[in-house]
Amino acid sequence: MATRPKRYAMVVDSKKCLNCKACVVACRAENSVPLDYSRPWMNEETRGVWPRLMASSHPEQCHQCAHPACVRVCPTGASYHRPDGIVVVNQDDCVGCRYCMIACPYDARFFRQDKGVVEKCDFCVQRLGRGQVPACVETCPSKVRVFGDLNDPGSKLSELLSTREYRLKKPEAGTGPQIYYLI
Ligand code: SF4
Ligand code: SF4
Repeated sequence: MATRPKRYAMVVDSKKCLNCKACVVACRAENSVPLDYSRPWMNEETRGVWPRLMASSHPEQCHQCAHPACVRVCPTGASYHRPDGIVVVNQDDCVGCRYCMIACPYDARFFRQDKGVVEKCDFCVQRLGRGQVPACVETCPSKVRVFGDLNDPGSKLSELLSTREYRLKKPEAGTGPQIYYLI
């Protein structure tokens, strides 16, 4: 029987996030990202009135969209969609025009002044090739992120999506985001 191709995605349980930013640090080390930049980041929120304040943090990164606006506008094909669902940037083909940064509804890309190219999260594709999960997933002490294959009904990711409620960010943008936030 033919196996279905993989379709990678991520579930995020923001309520578990300690805002320790170990994921950000691990990503920098894994992907040689200088201190001035970050592939994942935290949306920090404070609610309530002093002294009853509630703080929360929501991990963010590229949403590996199913219909990526960044890929549509890239004039050189440097940004492309892999068959496994991951959107990547081939830095050799990037001319630094930054059209993709304007097109992305999540502000998930940044321009590397030192290299003259655009960069973003790619689920650590080099690690996947070695049978490892993305660095942010591995390092998180709270196991906020669950990475997996949507086409594998036995994956932890599929189990969570079939048993828990979740929301997608900015679905109205029409890019088909693939980061699922548990409610
Ligand atoms: Fe939150 Fe985990 Fe990142 Fe720490 S490592 S900031 S707990 S997502
Ligand atoms: Fe492209 Fe932005 Fe979607 Fe990532 S979040 S795939 S950079 S449109």
